[in-house]
Amino acid sequence: MTDDLLEEAAARFEEACEHTDLSEDTRERLRRPISSLKVSIPVRMDDGAMETFAGYRVRYNDTRGPAKGGIRFHPRVTAAEVTTLAFWMTFKTAVMDLPFGGGKGGVAVDPKRLSVAELERLSRGYIAAIADVIGPDIDVPAPDVATNELVMGWMVHEYGKIHRGHQPAVVTGKPIALGGIPGRSSATSDGAFQVVREVRGRVLPDANDPSVAIQGFGNAGAQLASRLAEDGWRVVAVSDSSAAVHDPGGLDVVKLREHKTDTGSLADAPVGEPLEPEALLTLEVDALVPAALEAAIHEGNAGDVRATVVFEVANGPVTAAADRILDERGVEIVPDILVNAGGVTVSWFEWIANRQGERWTEATVRARLEDRMVTETRAIVELADARGLRLRTAAYVHAVERLATAIDATGTTTLFGDGTS
Ligand code: NAD
Repeated sequence: MTDDLLEEAAARFEEACEHTDLSEDTRERLRRPISSLKVSIPVRMDDGAMETFAGYRVRYNDTRGPAKGGIRFHPRVTAAEVTTLAFWMTFKTAVMDLPFGGGKGGVAVDPKRLSVAELERLSRGYIAAIADVIGPDIDVPAPDVATNELVMGWMVHEYGKIHRGHQPAVVTGKPIALGGIPGRSSATSDGAFQVVREVRGRVLPDANDPSVAIQGFGNAGAQLASRLAEDGWRVVAVSDSSAAVHDPGGLDVVKLREHKTDTGSLADAPVGEPLEPEALLTLEVDALVPAALEAAIHEGNAGDVRATVVFEVANGPVTAAADRILDERGVEIVPDILVNAGGVTVSWFEWIANRQGERWTEATVRARLEDRMVTETRAIVELADARGLRLRTAAYVHAVERLATAIDATGTTTLFGDGTS
């Protein structure tokens, strides 16, 4: 991600502000992160050599509660990418009315190149480097791309060692044995599925046998593929970073997931026909689900997208330029800050359970997640209809108004607003 995406994210925020009566002071408070940390993480590699990795943690805004956001391990992680992701988290937690702000972290590393032992040393080193700026009441990390509950387990353990005591609520997405919550690993796809179900009648009123293509067959994409297939959708194409497969009649998702688990990739899949990964994005389908990385749909390919609706499971998969092109062509976009908010919502449940010393059942998690997703989806659709807005703008307005109420309630805007106090 480049600085462009940060600018684009800011432009979307300014656009949403035009539909609110947000004061200039509050806008200013939301224009930049409150804290950005860059760290160097020296790691002893298995061959005895020392390698140093760059890590980041950004707390974008914490007016509504401790910052919340995942940790990404990816070679292209930069300060600008982490800041943009932290910005989006600020709006996502507000969209869902969670008592959190927005944060994000990352390490510039290709985790596939590391042994498990090296990955553990890197994860522990990262937490040691950022330990002063995180905490259950300050900033609460979670998994993101290429990090999972194993990594969160190392991280919560390391934080406990540094602070000489158990602090399970410092990180969410942990293994159940270390204070994790049932249903967290499927929360993003479960939440996305609830949103799809809630808006389906609106965005695909005539599709009796709806088809879907999914880019990204990882934690979020593969599990959503299963949920949709079980609900009668034809999953006609899926892709990962190495391959794509296609079958207009519908792929056997169970077999594909087994193949991915066994071999680590979709290459040589036992079902469907191979497809150029880029071609997946322009298939004639009812729904397109980008569930990989940012900017998958951009100015160069948005004109060829033939889906009726795009469900943004990834964060920021449609650039602002592509957004305008899709909008002009009548392609509806259901935005990331709503569609993929199930993960952070169940993280909230985990944080509550940890702080209260409770254990929640999976049934409780599922019921409360469905309630949050359905309530906020309906609110955004109503707002879009009432004010004549696109769903993305409506989601931002919904979030911005909640953020503004909180910022105003702190009193500093009023106190210093006219520059004379
Ligand atoms: P993951 O690492 O489990 O999966 C990512 C998948 O994308 C992998 O299958 C990878 O091979 C594939 N991929 C990468 N580049 C690709 C390309 N160019 N074409 C096709 N596939 C490609 O990550 P995840 O946790 O599933 O996250 C996916 C997206 O969803 C990210 O944008 C992430 O920020 C977002 N998200 C995830 C969660 C969560 O709880 N997992 C929550 C909110 C948002």
